[in-house]
Amino acid sequence: MSAHTPTLLLSVDYEDWHQLVRRRVGASNWREAGPALARQTDALLALLDELHARATFFVLGMAARAHPELLAAIVAAGHEIGCHGDAHLPVHSQTPEEFTADLRAARATIEDLTGRTPVGYRAPAFSITASSEDWAYRVLAQEGFAYDASRHDSPALRDRAVPATAAPHRLNHAGDAAADAAGDAPGAGLWEFPVAVWRTGRMGGIRIPVGGASYWQGLPTPVILRGLSEAGPLAGLYLHPNELDPEPLRALLPADATPTQRAHAKLREAQRNGARRRAPRVLKAIAQRFELIPYGEAHARLDGSA
Ligand SMILES: [Zn+2]
Repeated sequence: MSAHTPTLLLSVDYEDWHQLVRRRVGASNWREAGPALARQTDALLALLDELHARATFFVLGMAARAHPELLAAIVAAGHEIGCHGDAHLPVHSQTPEEFTADLRAARATIEDLTGRTPVGYRAPAFSITASSEDWAYRVLAQEGFAYDASRHDSPALRDRAVPATAAPHRLNHAGDAAADAAGDAPGAGLWEFPVAVWRTGRMGGIRIPVGGASYWQGLPTPVILRGLSEAGPLAGLYLHPNELDPEPLRALLPADATPTQRAHAKLREAQRNGARRRAPRVLKAIAQRFELIPYGEAHARLDGSA
């Protein structure tokens, strides 16, 4: 990589697809450890090693507790450990007190299993919305987080909190000038690292989300590469372990599952298997064109120079 190679931030929302899909369809066994996260983790770590790329793993507390043996290899490979919350419930559906408790539960699990204290946060399904961002960022700052990576200006997200700029920036919610000056405005000091979105068309009116592997299945690789090159500096990428699964995803519902639950699970399987087929190839193409680094490394560079 030359000094002029553009840089993107690479992340993994580290969660157990089986827990999430089973809960979504209402299956009785959803809390159990799924059968695939270990092989997905192996595939993911092997691919990142092959690409000489390090990433931030935003770890979901409940997935880590179901698979306490899996985090050690991630840490040993030199990846950053971030926080994806504990129960994977939308931030906007929680009270500030519930959100605080969710962050603390996740952090306690992560510290217990890795000895690391995460300073970066990614909301489940980018669920810090315009109507919840003020209190959510205040809670994150109060809980000692240094950066957030939850803003995703995708047209598919309702009531999304639109980033002030595509580049990483400090969050400083206006409102109370005295509080701003004192540095204790909601979220003051917290850095935001937006997900890569290609703003194209007249007046930048068309937004094409190019940062997430779940969107890559519908886009030709040259379009993804062009979009990433125009998404702004240090734009964010995100993957899920299930997108690197070497085997087809099957929800494997329990014997008491209803026909409706089985049909719902089949639909989710089909969606995820589509993304799964493209993700490794697209990531390889991206890694040939861009330097991929963890969020914490970018934060250290920016915060040190601010
Ligand atoms: Zn997630």
